Amino acid sequence: MSDCIFCKIINREIPSAVVYEDEKVMAFKDINPVAPVHVLIVPKKHIGSVKEITEENACILADIHLAAKKIAQELGIYEKGFRLINNCGEDAGQTVLHLHYHLIGGKTLGAKIL
Ligand code: AMP
Ligand code: ZN
Repeated sequence: MSDCIFCKIINREIPSAVVYEDEKVMAFKDINPVAPVHVLIVPKKHIGSVKEITEENACILADIHLAAKKIAQELGIYEKGFRLINNCGEDAGQTVLHLHYHLIGGKTLGAKIL
């Protein structure tokens, strides 16, 4: 999508610190990190949010989880643990309308809300 900031990152039209890339998935450092490791894992093909997941494209969620495992290992947060968080829609505070999962770790994380 031409006006999507994460599509522009994927297309290398704007810079980012890429930490992982494969055929379907890219991961780059969040510009405003909340933990020592804070990476955004995104599908290369534009999907707006979890609301746009269908039977046809749902396999990307497995790809994202497999990437999350690899990135957690590479960035040294696999053993002690991490969170993989998705915000979907207005009430959840989603600010970028390109599906993304926050991978955070590297410290004892804040209180769980559930
Ligand atoms: P969310 O609030 O779940 O939609 O998360 C969007 C995230 O994207 C925020 O944590 C932002 O800090 C991050 N973000 C926005 N623009 C960029 C960018 N150009 N490069 C890296 N991260 C970004
Ligand atoms: Zn996009």
